[in-house]
Amino acid sequence: MSRLLVIGCGGVAQVAIQKCAQNSKVFTEMCIASRTVSKCDALKEKLEKAGTPVKITTDTVNADDVEDIKRVINNYKPDAVLNVALPYQDLTIMDACLECKVDYIDTANYEPEDTDDPEWRKIYEKRCKEKGFTAYFDYSWQWAYFDKFKEAGLTALLGTGFDPGVTSVFTAYAKKHYFDEIHYIDIMDCNGGDHGYAFATNFNPEINLREVSANGSYWEDGHWVETKPMEIKREYDFAQVGKKDMYLLHHEEIEALGRNFPEVKRIRFFMTFGQSYLDHMRCLEDVGMLSTSPVMFEGREIVPIQFLKALLPDPASLGPRTVGKTNIGCIFRGIKDGKERTIYIYNVCDHQECYKELGSQAISYTTGVPAMIGTALVVTGQWKKPGVFTTDEFDPDPYMEMLNEYGLPWVVEENPTLID
Ligand code: NDP
Repeated sequence: MSRLLVIGCGGVAQVAIQKCAQNSKVFTEMCIASRTVSKCDALKEKLEKAGTPVKITTDTVNADDVEDIKRVINNYKPDAVLNVALPYQDLTIMDACLECKVDYIDTANYEPEDTDDPEWRKIYEKRCKEKGFTAYFDYSWQWAYFDKFKEAGLTALLGTGFDPGVTSVFTAYAKKHYFDEIHYIDIMDCNGGDHGYAFATNFNPEINLREVSANGSYWEDGHWVETKPMEIKREYDFAQVGKKDMYLLHHEEIEALGRNFPEVKRIRFFMTFGQSYLDHMRCLEDVGMLSTSPVMFEGREIVPIQFLKALLPDPASLGPRTVGKTNIGCIFRGIKDGKERTIYIYNVCDHQECYKELGSQAISYTTGVPAMIGTALVVTGQWKKPGVFTTDEFDPDPYMEMLNEYGLPWVVEENPTLID
């Protein structure tokens, strides 16, 4: 029995909340709070019409404001807060959780909304030099809360989506059951879905476009190797999807896995993109539409990437029109009992099946299901330990079982085709 406060009610949140409702033995009461409360009310009504036994309430919250988050937490008194708003709000929500003494869970690591903020930039530029990668997001901001959470006896579980999230659980599972040492990890995120638009993003456009237009990087022999955006391209034949071009990106789980699995010699992350997506992105970047710096337009300030977000289809609306499958997983190479071993753990998820079940496309689904699972493991005490952790730092077995149970079954394949 638990009371959960969910912050955010977008594409990922809608799946996470509906999955919590399917797990009503654990989540007996839920408050959905977000900036636009009408979305929370609509989802509450949908779940109540479907006869959910979960007692649901809603609230408005400005998650950029610690005091306002504290107001909602103090009113509702949850056991845990699931943050499925945006990475911009990670620190304010963590601060409020600490002050109100509740556990914290999220799906993406902190990045600032305003990358021109001089205070943040000073720290960022120092980090770029010291660590050798230039992505706007990194774990240092949230790992800095470790002692505070530990002293308060609270758990913060970071990045329990699919990637990061499940990919890190796959790593812990591979290490526990298949390897004495893992030496190489290739994470591959393939979306074979087609939504029929010339250009749209599958999750929040601002976060998505920031991520994919940035430099790539990978972890090798204890340090970062940075590449130009989309500089490294490979082709892979994905089960149930077929051959796709994929590109090396910087991705947040590489940072945590590099730290927590020091024996790993190289970690890379690849994501598939179609030519139309890449052409559109390049044009938008060339004309400045991906910029996060405000410009004056007809007497008022606008941020180009936020204006672009307003023009693009809402990712939550792609569900009915997206067909095809995703295939996300990791290839591990290492040593077991003195012999070389290679395995590939992956999940295949069908966009239309997700839509039939929950009214969402597979990207929101593959993120929202693990968000529920991570939260369930924290509130039931199975993954409760004081401090700030990523999903590779716990026993992977209960998480892997719940993936099978809640719609993301996985496969372990021995001797898969490797990527050069
Ligand atoms: P959406 O933009 O669809 O949803 C974000 C939600 O947060 C909206 O309901 C929005 O409100 C709300 N929100 C935004 N700002 C505030 C604020 N200041 N106060 C209160 N509520 C706010 O995003 P997604 O659902 O696509 O993504 C959610 C999270 O999931 C992101 O952090 C994203 O990075 C992460 N993600 C993680 C993945 C993984 O595999 N780990 C993969 C995909 C996404 P409103 O409705 O008013 O806009």
